[in-house]
Amino acid sequence: MKKWTEKDFKYIWHPYTQMKDCQDLPPIFIKKAKGIKIYDENNKMYYDTISSWWCNIHGHNHQMITQAIKKQIKSLDHVLFAGFTHKPAILLAENLLDVAPENLKKVFFSDNGSTAVEAALKMSFQYWQNKGKKEKKLFVCLDHGYHGDTIGAMSVSGDSIFNEPFKPLLFSSIKADSPYCYRCPEKKLKKDCKIECFQSLESIVKKQNKKICGLILEPLLMAAGGMIIYPPDYLIKAAQLTKKYNIHLIVDEIATGFGRTGKMFACDYGNIYPDFLCLSKGITSGVLPLGATLTTNEIYNAFYDDYDKKKTFFHGHTFTANPISCSAAVASLKIFKKENTLKKVQSIIPFFHNQMEKFRNMDFVGDVRYIGMVGAIELVKNKETKEPFDFTERIGYKLYKKGLQEGIILRPLGNIIYLFLPLSISQTDLEYILNKTEKILKNLLKVENI
Ligand SMILES: *Cc1c(COP(=O)(O)O)cnc(C)c1O
Repeated sequence: MKKWTEKDFKYIWHPYTQMKDCQDLPPIFIKKAKGIKIYDENNKMYYDTISSWWCNIHGHNHQMITQAIKKQIKSLDHVLFAGFTHKPAILLAENLLDVAPENLKKVFFSDNGSTAVEAALKMSFQYWQNKGKKEKKLFVCLDHGYHGDTIGAMSVSGDSIFNEPFKPLLFSSIKADSPYCYRCPEKKLKKDCKIECFQSLESIVKKQNKKICGLILEPLLMAAGGMIIYPPDYLIKAAQLTKKYNIHLIVDEIATGFGRTGKMFACDYGNIYPDFLCLSKGITSGVLPLGATLTTNEIYNAFYDDYDKKKTFFHGHTFTANPISCSAAVASLKIFKKENTLKKVQSIIPFFHNQMEKFRNMDFVGDVRYIGMVGAIELVKNKETKEPFDFTERIGYKLYKKGLQEGIILRPLGNIIYLFLPLSISQTDLEYILNKTEKILKNLLKVENI
């Protein structure tokens, strides 16, 4: 097996990885996965506590998805999607529109999350061009927001260590304060919060709406920015603001979609009707890559014209609507119905949230937050002042290594440790994972260790 790890190091450059760390901690060679468990070459088991990067929904190797893929590949593997179409894409579009907010009527496919966002940004921008509103050129977004790693998606994300080196390349966007309750930009406490932080976004839109195409945000859960969870009222106010000032609302549900927050979409917490809904990650239950940008007839119709009028949306990705990916996504939505996934997960969420509370009083735990099947712990050097650990202390990395030894994946986001669990998890597995997490944190986060 050493041979494979050596070859990996020789040939491969892993994502988000300081490759020098691989000397200390080589990537784990995974051989198989079943349900919420993944296994390495020695049959050591790891709980997939972060759903293979926030994708997996129904557990690995779900029979209905593998069957659907096998069946599809026998008849049609792939075909270009301009000038051609196929049943898996049509069925999926119909099924997605069935579960999405009801104002959405059209589906534009791509192949990952960043492309789903890029398509929405470009559609929004070109919509205003097609409508003769040439002065609308800017997007508003939130601090700590994250929408992907391509240049456009980075341009509408919050400033972070991820996009820092590329700043000179990014197009300008307007960033509003984010509803980061633990580090409230208005210095309010939860009990007397009246969503004062919304004023930042409101005043930007009020002043500059004539120049603004749209607002892009992650609803309720800002995932990559640190698992920041905010009240539905903020989302509702933001949606109303976009309607009032005639700018688009682009909702990025790439991480939150497909039940992760306890409802099919986070939009369902507030009867939100976005102009664009970006989907990926959980769409195929994390089995195959696929992206989708859903939009309204109003937007679609602004592009619908004779070819020579230059209103066409000239954008696409080679693997758009891959039939095998689409068939996996159709099967995943079938599972939601057949297994009553959303109802079942409701019975486990209160237990999960209740158990998360036990971390709150621990040393170095600044904040505990949760929504649906996502729970996060923000570690701080000083609980009173909320002073964060320094980047170079690599506290998250130390916990991550410890977690792996214990068979759970505590992949950190800076100083935030989180669980991002498949909806299919059993109460027994959940209890085991929470107990392990508690044990690891208790052992490592001692005053004498730090
Ligand atoms: C992961 C993610 C993306 C980017 O998706 P990729 O498939 O990695 O390009 C965009 N937005 C959100 C909210 C995400 O969590």
